[in-house]
Amino acid sequence: MRIFDPHVHMTSRTTDDYEAMAAAGVRAVVEPSFWLGQPRTSPGSFADYFDALIGWEPFRAGQFGIRHFATIALNPKEANDPRCREVLELVPRYLDKDAVVAVGEIGYDAMTPQEDHAFAAQLALAVEFDLPALVHTPHRDKVRGTQRSLDVVKESGIDPGRVVIDHLNEVTVELVRDTGCWLGFSIYPDTKMSPPRMVELLRRYGTERMLVNSAADWGRSDPLLTLRTGEAMVAAGFGEDEVDRVLWRNPAAFYGQSGRLDLSDADAPADFAGNSIKRGGA
Ligand SMILES: [Zn+2]
Repeated sequence: MRIFDPHVHMTSRTTDDYEAMAAAGVRAVVEPSFWLGQPRTSPGSFADYFDALIGWEPFRAGQFGIRHFATIALNPKEANDPRCREVLELVPRYLDKDAVVAVGEIGYDAMTPQEDHAFAAQLALAVEFDLPALVHTPHRDKVRGTQRSLDVVKESGIDPGRVVIDHLNEVTVELVRDTGCWLGFSIYPDTKMSPPRMVELLRRYGTERMLVNSAADWGRSDPLLTLRTGEAMVAAGFGEDEVDRVLWRNPAAFYGQSGRLDLSDADAPADFAGNSIKRGGA
């Protein structure tokens, strides 16, 4: 099973996680920029974080044969802190970088006017830089937050086929289904979506435009839940091709719209010593 995790915060994970992910078949990841738990107090610490997402973290991932890409944005939560407002001026500099495959995570946390502003401004950047957009939906008041996110996406004029609405569940899936946007689902050990619930949604709504991620971060989470979802799909009777579509081809197609997703040789096995072993050749 080859796996592309389209949303995982590797900054918070250890090399043991990378090793386990590589062994599980994870060959590519997208790491969205987000809050770090501890609030940041100046734009400078965002610049250092963004640099790490396109520099140090791809290097760490590469040691396990995993391709690492990033999405860059001022996240909705910190958009409320006046000390972080200048980050919006920093973001465009990063949207030009080869390892950046989307604008994100953008969207809503508490649905404040400051969040409205940052969300709309960064959707405009996605249009300007011709990049897809990753939209985080809030954990509280999810239905209203999802609906309002879809309204803002529509107003922005961005092609909905270049937008993923993430952290969906049984309650919000119907809101997004017919909008043309991609549908993202974060699978967690004990909250939000689980592998069996995800399989049920795939059975009901099909595999088209469906993205499954582990969203693993600093909280209780598990970067192997992509694999567990694939296993649950197989156990439920899905064919190999459908599993490959959800866990590899869908994320590759979505982020491929950036024109920057180089996955050549990404499914060659890793040697765990820093290089992916090229197939064929001497
Ligand atoms: Zn996230």
